[in-house]
Amino acid sequence: MSRACTGLLLITVCCISGSALGQSAHKNPWATKDVGTLPPIASLTNGVWLKGELHVHSRHSKESSNNPVAKIIAFSKSVGMDYLCITDHDNHVDGDVAHNTWADPEFKSDSVLLLYGAEWTTTRGHGNAFSAKPYDHQRLYDVRDQRDVVVGSVKKELGIHLSANHPSGKDHFGYSYDMVNSIEVWNSAVWSKNANAIMIWDDMLSSGRKLTGRGGSDAHHGVPETPDKATKNSYQAKANYVGTPTTWVFATARTSQAVIDALTNGRVSISSNPYAPRVEFYADLNQDGKMDMMMGDNAKSTGKPVKFRVQLTGNTVPDGDYTVSVVKNGNPFGTFQTNGKTAFIAFTDTPATQGRTYYRVVVEGPPTPYPQVPESTALSGKMVGLSNPICFNFDPNF
Ligand SMILES: [Zn+2]
Ligand SMILES: [Zn+2]
Repeated sequence: MSRACTGLLLITVCCISGSALGQSAHKNPWATKDVGTLPPIASLTNGVWLKGELHVHSRHSKESSNNPVAKIIAFSKSVGMDYLCITDHDNHVDGDVAHNTWADPEFKSDSVLLLYGAEWTTTRGHGNAFSAKPYDHQRLYDVRDQRDVVVGSVKKELGIHLSANHPSGKDHFGYSYDMVNSIEVWNSAVWSKNANAIMIWDDMLSSGRKLTGRGGSDAHHGVPETPDKATKNSYQAKANYVGTPTTWVFATARTSQAVIDALTNGRVSISSNPYAPRVEFYADLNQDGKMDMMMGDNAKSTGKPVKFRVQLTGNTVPDGDYTVSVVKNGNPFGTFQTNGKTAFIAFTDTPATQGRTYYRVVVEGPPTPYPQVPESTALSGKMVGLSNPICFNFDPNF
């Protein structure tokens, strides 16, 4: 009897004090909580850097000129590309990419890994589909005007990597970013026009969507064989073609599937052209002097300082000055200077123990000449390359 009374009294006191302090009983089910145990980080050494082009149009796109499949593949090979995805507009063939680009007798290579894909070209915007093997692209085309939840389920059934193209401006990506694996943050040699794409990418990362940033030239026109074959757009081939920009992936093997997997997991950086230095971004979690993570990786924050390292690999200009800008959670974190001889910078920061943190880097410096596409360097300017983020406390089941 007396125990029940005490309990009742306690509840009353509790309610009075709660309302007196203006507290509500609201409990946010999505509030930041411990992310739990994360999957282990993959090996930093067991793999190979592969470079490629992820957005280019052949003659199977109606507005393309002087750009047969064989020319694109031969050019890619000549500038050292390891992989290539020819992404023709699917609406130009009513979705039947399989009997057009992929069935072209020229669609073969003994050295360049050819991905299967197309540019999903819809009223609500453009995206690229990427796959290591043929898939039923017709289904993705047919579902294009349906609700996102329907489109997303078809995409999942097809097992493809879907990527948002040139996400802002004309032909922006007007679908949910929840159904894409990556976003084209660097479209064509004209670096300056990508500012809004970068902003969208940071917004998605900041809201917990671990989307990979990738590049794509979106080139439609090749150099004509003879002057009489020139079109009004032929001039573009000298300024924007395969490799402007170039997307690097750290793949576990030299296979198409490993390229797709690396694209999905974000072990990716983008360089202004195939000869420009590659941006590599690493982190040492436990301060033992050995790097434990690279861009695209996600670890649980320990509450201890993490040492980060950015290095430029490949053809740096020896006496050139390079500026590395670090972005933390979408905001400027700091800028660091290095030169072509040293070609690395280091910094330390402590990611929060609660909630997500990410870091990514942008590198500017002297342009690296690209003799095959000579006018591209004037368009990309000082932009050398950018990394994908190193992430902490991102929920892999998001
Ligand atoms: Zn497009
Ligand atoms: Zn395109």
